[in-house]
Amino acid sequence: MSAMKRLRSVFLLISLTAAAFSQNNNGREALIRERSGLIAITHVLLIDGTGAAAQPDQTVILRDGRIENVGASTTLKPPADARILDGTGHTLIPGLVGMHEHLFYTSPAPKAHFSVIEQPISFPLLYLASGVTTARTAGAIEPYTDLELKRQIDSHQAIGPTFELTGPYLEGSSPSIEQMHGLNGAQEAREFVRYWHSVGFSSIKAYMNITGEELKAAIEEAHSRGMKVTGHLCSVSFREAAEMGIDNLEHGPFVAPDSELYSKRKQPGSCQPFIQDAYQELATKVDPNGSAAQQIIQNLVQHHVALTSTLSVVEGGSRPPIQHELTGRAYQLMSPASWSYVMTARLFEQQNDLQIQSTLNKEMQFERAFAQAGGKLMAGCDPTGDGHTLAGLGDQRELELLIEAGFTVPEAIKIFTLNGAEFLGKEREIGTVAQGKHADLVLLKGDLAHDVNVIEKPELVFKSGIGYDSDRIYEWVRGLVGLR
Ligand SMILES: [Zn+2]
Repeated sequence: MSAMKRLRSVFLLISLTAAAFSQNNNGREALIRERSGLIAITHVLLIDGTGAAAQPDQTVILRDGRIENVGASTTLKPPADARILDGTGHTLIPGLVGMHEHLFYTSPAPKAHFSVIEQPISFPLLYLASGVTTARTAGAIEPYTDLELKRQIDSHQAIGPTFELTGPYLEGSSPSIEQMHGLNGAQEAREFVRYWHSVGFSSIKAYMNITGEELKAAIEEAHSRGMKVTGHLCSVSFREAAEMGIDNLEHGPFVAPDSELYSKRKQPGSCQPFIQDAYQELATKVDPNGSAAQQIIQNLVQHHVALTSTLSVVEGGSRPPIQHELTGRAYQLMSPASWSYVMTARLFEQQNDLQIQSTLNKEMQFERAFAQAGGKLMAGCDPTGDGHTLAGLGDQRELELLIEAGFTVPEAIKIFTLNGAEFLGKEREIGTVAQGKHADLVLLKGDLAHDVNVIEKPELVFKSGIGYDSDRIYEWVRGLVGLR
């Protein structure tokens, strides 16, 4: 091929790719179903996010992206020019505020040690379609992709939830995941926080091998810049982190094993190689209502440390059952490689079913006790682990598991909406269905108060008054999860 010809074919390839790309973008426009500036959703069952009981036959009026009015359908009449959506047989809840989300997912590469890959195309859409209108990421592996995605979504060039971004992980030396940087001391921890704050991250997360000195320095630096700090800890205990002033802890002490519950804790600052043994000991021997667990609760409540529940990533092996509707939807959304990876992982995990079940049950009991003691419990899906937890679908499953843990439906909705909004300092804008707030709402097919599986049936998800069609989004994303 002559140089000219080669150049021409490269040019052709680029133009074709660009055309295909803009076609995809055009396809996304069809994912929006309601774009009227004035909408009345009438005769709906309302669970408003405050923890109050479900209210039948309500009308909610949305104007220019905000909630203009909420009231009984018998008295609140929609304006004459409003577009009416008859909500009979439907439940309306506030958009979920997912507090442990990621823009990455477990890689299906079969011979890799646990590794993760960014999902900037499929995940933002899946969160939104599934009812998550605000998503705090809990750690980044492609930080510049996360920032760019948020910019595109905020400027209406892409579709997804409102992201609250957490920077790359604060991890000690010998990082546990290949994209992580291992910090070398307290001074570097400060510089790390300063840099990621300067490029736009509002939160930072500490990981399993961080030292106490590094964590303490990072918390000070973050707080001086108005950033929040959360942690999935191991080397530093829950008590130590709470005393340093950490704002939030992820997963809970039975899932991110709190070393102070472990009888053979060698010394502060160590995590590997004890973690597997600790995990097992906690699952088999430690009482979630015993005095050591109670002390953790008191300490967290006293220091106002919020806890993020991530039950759906914990259940593995045979749960949720293969005939569960969520599993069927996941099958359609995943690439064949990811589906095969997850099914293989489940097969191996079945040997550990009893231990996984025990960890899940204990963590559920702990979270109930924490909330009852006045602790702020929040929720998210953590789409990592063995890969069975998908963006958005994992959040729906998390709600179901909160109910299994013993919370009522209105309580679980509050954990997943208002509690997260308060933590983010956005409770005046989002988190409940109330006059003046953003019209971030999920319209579900069925009666959620009597059947928690209705959370899996979103019909329309409103973000700032724009209604996105969940089924069309699920169809659009078909086969993409695990690829990009
Ligand atoms: Zn996570």
